[in-house]
Amino acid sequence: MRWAQLTLVENDPGRYDRQFWLDYFARIHADGACLSAGGVVAYYPTKVDLHHRSAWMGDTDPFGDLVAGCRRLGMTVIARTDPHAVHQDVFDAHPDWIAVDADGRKRRHWASPELWVTCALGPYNFEFMTAVHKEIVSRYAVDGIFSNRWSGSGMCYCEHCQRNFQAAAGLALPRTTDVGDPARRAYLAWQQDRLFELWRLWDREIRAINPQARFIANSGGGALSPLDMKTVGELSDILFADRQARRGATPLWVNGKSAKEYRAALGSKPIGGIFSVGVEEPYRWKDSVQSDAEVRMWVAEGTANGMRPWFTKFSGTLYDKRWLATVEKIYSWHYRAERYLRNVRPLARVGLVYSQQTATFYGGDRARERVEDHTLGFYQALVDARTPFEMVHDRLLDRERLQTLKLLILPNIACLSDAQCEQIRAFVRSGGSLVATLETALYDERGGHRSDFGLADLFGARFAGRVEGPMQNSYLRLERDRRSGAFHPLLAGLEDTPRIINGVRRVEVRAIGGDTAVPLTLIPSYPDLPMEMVYPRVEQTDSGQLFAREIGRSRIVYVPWDIDRTFWDVMSTDHGTLLANAVRWAANEEPPVTVTGPGLLDVTIWRQRESLTVHLVNLTNPMTMRGPIRELLPLSGQRVRIKVPGGTTARRVHLLVADRAPSIESTPGFVEVTVPAILDHEVVAVDLEPT
Ligand SMILES: [Zn+2]
Repeated sequence: MRWAQLTLVENDPGRYDRQFWLDYFARIHADGACLSAGGVVAYYPTKVDLHHRSAWMGDTDPFGDLVAGCRRLGMTVIARTDPHAVHQDVFDAHPDWIAVDADGRKRRHWASPELWVTCALGPYNFEFMTAVHKEIVSRYAVDGIFSNRWSGSGMCYCEHCQRNFQAAAGLALPRTTDVGDPARRAYLAWQQDRLFELWRLWDREIRAINPQARFIANSGGGALSPLDMKTVGELSDILFADRQARRGATPLWVNGKSAKEYRAALGSKPIGGIFSVGVEEPYRWKDSVQSDAEVRMWVAEGTANGMRPWFTKFSGTLYDKRWLATVEKIYSWHYRAERYLRNVRPLARVGLVYSQQTATFYGGDRARERVEDHTLGFYQALVDARTPFEMVHDRLLDRERLQTLKLLILPNIACLSDAQCEQIRAFVRSGGSLVATLETALYDERGGHRSDFGLADLFGARFAGRVEGPMQNSYLRLERDRRSGAFHPLLAGLEDTPRIINGVRRVEVRAIGGDTAVPLTLIPSYPDLPMEMVYPRVEQTDSGQLFAREIGRSRIVYVPWDIDRTFWDVMSTDHGTLLANAVRWAANEEPPVTVTGPGLLDVTIWRQRESLTVHLVNLTNPMTMRGPIRELLPLSGQRVRIKVPGGTTARRVHLLVADRAPSIESTPGFVEVTVPAILDHEVVAVDLEPT
C-alpha cells in the first residue's frame, strides 16, 4: 500500500546511514521497498562477469543488508536494476552491446560521458541482464525486479538491431520517424515484439527461481506511451506509474490521469504512483526538495484516483531533509485511512477513451497536438464539471469492461477498426451513450482513411470530403428547435447569446437527417483585419456543427469540430459549458455523486468491500496549472450528494482527513453531507451494510 524507493549512488556504501533509512521506513509505515541492486552499478558481491561493483563497497553487501533490514520490518522488497549504461570494460569486451546512432557511432552517455549507452534489443539485455536478474533473485529471494530505463534510449543501429530487423522484416532500419514509411511501421511493430519478448524472458527466468516474484517494467502510460497498454496490462500483476512531479505548465490533475490510464489496462490490479520529493524540471536537480504543498497535492491526486504512493529518493546521503516530514505526514494519514483506500472498483459511469493506435498512425510526430490535446481538453472539462470518470483503452472496449459505464467519450479517436466500431455499436445497443468529436472513426486502426466515419450511422452525420483549418474568426449560431421554438438542453446556459466562438479545425459533414437535432450551425470565417473589413459575409448557413440523437435509452452527441482541443488551447467558458452539457445530457441519469459549492475540485468515487468513498481534491489554487503550489488555500462548504448502492444502506459517514462526522441528511437511495472545509484533500467515507 505504501512504497519507499531508495536508489543508492555509487559512493553511498560505507557512507550513508542504513539504520536511519530503516527507522524511517518503519516510522512512515511503508510496507514495500524498492532498493538498488544492479545494472550500471552492482551493490552486492556479484559473480556475473563485467557486472560493475560499486567501487566503495569493498567486501560488504549493501543491498543484502538493506534487504535483510526491510524483511525484519515485514516489508515486501523488489530489487531495482538499471541496464541503460555500462562502463568502459564492457565496451572493451563487448563493443557490440553498445547502442549505435544513425551515423554509425557508438553512443557515449549524454550525462556521464565516461559511460556508454547500451542497446536494449540485443545480447546485453537478453543475455547479460538476464544473468544479473537471475543472480539477484536466487541470492536474495526478492519479490520482484523493477527495471528502470530497460527499453532503450532511442533508435539503435547496432549490428544486432540491423541483422535482427532485416531477418524479421526483410528491410533496413528506418531513418525517418514518418509512419507513412513502411520500414518505420515495420520497426514499430518489431521493437514492441522484441521488448515484450524480453519482458517475458525476464519474467519467466525470475519466476523459475521464485514463483511468487515478477518482472516489473518501468513502463506504461497514455496515448503517447510506446508500449501497447493492453499487452502491458496482461503481463503485469502490479505496475508503477513513474510520474515523479510536474514540470513547466502541467496541471495538477495529470497525476490522477496517469492512474486512470494505467487502470484502463490493469483493471483492479494494484497501481503505484512514483513521486519524487525533488524538482523534476529538465535541469534535473536530483538532490533537490520540492515544497510541502506541491508534494502533498501531487500525491493526493494520485491517491484520490486509486494509486498507492511510492516515494523515490536518489542518494542515501541526504543534503536537504525538508521532505522527510512531508512524506511522513502523507504516509501516516494513508496508514490510518488504509481500510478506506483498499478500493474494489471505481463507481464512475463515464469513460474517456484513449488510443495509442490513433497517436501512432494518425498523430505521428504531431500526436501531442493532434491527439493528446483533445484528451487534455476533455479531461479539464470533466474536472471542471466535477464528473467522476474513468479512462478506457480503445483496445479494451469489450462488453465486460464497459458494463459499469453509461457514457463513452471519444475525443477525436480517429483510428478505430471495424471491430472496435462494432463494439461501440454494441455498447449503444445495450443502452450506452456516446460523445464524439472531430475525426473520430474516420480512419481504420492502421491510419487508413475511410470514405465515411466508421460510426456515421450513430453520429447522424456523414463525412463530406474535407477538413477545414486552422480557421480564423469563425463562429457558431445557436438554433432553436423548429417545432417547439426552444433551445436544446445542450445549449443550457448559452441562451442569452445568438452565437459563440467556433473551434479551429472542423470536419465538413452532411446531416443524415431524420431524428437528429442540430442545435448549432456554422458562421464561416471572415476577415479579422483590417478592422473595417471585420463583418460576417455569411450570417447564417445550414451547416450543422452539433448533432444530438436519442436511440432508445442511448443518447449520442457528435461534434464535428475540435471543441476539446480548442478548449485546451483557449479555455473558452462557452466551450466548457457545451462540453459539460454534452456529458450531462448524454449520460441521461443522476450521477453517482454530485458536489455543489465554489471552486475547482477533482471528484472521484470508489467502492470498497464494506464502504464507499468520495475523494475531493481541492484544485482551487493559482498554481493548479503550473507548479509548484506555494500555499494550500482552504475551500469552503461543499454539499455532497451520494447515491447509495442498491441493496445497502449507509450505516455511518466520516470525513477521513478532518477526522470528524459531518451532519447527514438521508433521502431514499441517497445520503447528503456538508463538508465544511477542504484544505488539500478530503475523503467522505460511507460505511455500508446490507439492507
Ligand atoms: Zn541495437
